[in-house]
Amino acid sequence: MTDNYPFLDLGKVNEPYREELVKAAVRVIDSGRFVGGTEVDSFEKMLGEMTEVPYVVGVSNGLDALRLILKGYIELGIMRPGDEVIVPANTYVASFLAISDAGLIPIPVDADIHTMNIDSALIEKAVTTRTRAIMAVHLYGRTAWDKTIADIATRHGLKIIEDNAQGIGGRATHPGLYGTRQTGSLGHAAAFSFYPTKNIGALGDAGAVTTHDPELAKTVRALANYGSDRRYHNIYRGYNCRLDPLQAAFLMVKLPHTDDENADRFERALAYSRTITNPRIVTPLMSQAVTDNVWHQYVIRILDGKRDFFVRQLAGHGVATDIHYATPPHLQPCYASLSHPALPMTEQLADEIVSLPIAAGTSVSDAADIARIINNITW
Ligand SMILES: *Cc1c(COP(=O)(O)O)cnc(C)c1O
Repeated sequence: MTDNYPFLDLGKVNEPYREELVKAAVRVIDSGRFVGGTEVDSFEKMLGEMTEVPYVVGVSNGLDALRLILKGYIELGIMRPGDEVIVPANTYVASFLAISDAGLIPIPVDADIHTMNIDSALIEKAVTTRTRAIMAVHLYGRTAWDKTIADIATRHGLKIIEDNAQGIGGRATHPGLYGTRQTGSLGHAAAFSFYPTKNIGALGDAGAVTTHDPELAKTVRALANYGSDRRYHNIYRGYNCRLDPLQAAFLMVKLPHTDDENADRFERALAYSRTITNPRIVTPLMSQAVTDNVWHQYVIRILDGKRDFFVRQLAGHGVATDIHYATPPHLQPCYASLSHPALPMTEQLADEIVSLPIAAGTSVSDAADIARIINNITW
């Protein structure tokens, strides 16, 4: 079987940056500073300026970023073990893992079948006296943010924590409230992942916490460094979740290209959406503002229970695909004992979705070719 259209080629993704990445690596090697230091400081400053958030803490990965935010709120007395966090049922399992790892309870809310993000009309019903936060996950790169979420959080005094692992560079617009702002600056705190396959990927694991809250930032920074506020003085029972300076140096090469990288993804998404006319395929919503979606994944739905057939047919034409995600977190064995409402849309999505190639390495004309192959698959 030929693989004319690979799903993701990380070599191609990093090729344009190769020279600068090598220079960055040499700079770190020659600096002799391999934990913390100026590379991490400068990266934090760069991400803060880009997202317009005053406090940034570089951390080890996206899951740790989420865990540290929640554990930070626990140390500050804002949350207690046993409290509830509302989370979209349609998400990567890491969103759930961070909540349960902090001793909190994930309360999954079903997806909107069209945006595939949390259905904000269902959130208020899930709020109880123990609810402390809403986790807004910008899944597949689509900004999960609307007035409903903001109003519910205000009304019930909830924190909004963005899982921005898939949404870097995305925007949300609130005329009259604050105009246009970047994901990572919309809620009280946000987690970024720079896992190599994300829109801006490091060459290994990396992540960051952004927040408007200086107390939370201080607590997260301490927790990520053994719980110490100064050397050999531990105010918390902390962890080692620091950002590697080598990854910080690599990320400073790529961060300034975030909008360009996302614009390229948008062009491929547009090619797919314009060319796919197969009536048994549902293409994702194209939003009004280009930056409402940074197209981390281009996710289509295959109707009539034909997903597996469709994937096999595409593979026969050399088109690699993926599924994000075939098993939602609440159906994973580790959450067998989690109580949750019926989540029919999330489960339907899990059975119907397919992700098409969209990263660098898939050209706009590749996307149009793949779309034409898709139009010829019938049943
Ligand atoms: C990738 C991802 C994470 C976890 O990030 P890591 O850096 O891989 O730990 C969390 N949430 C979502 C939605 C993700 O896609």
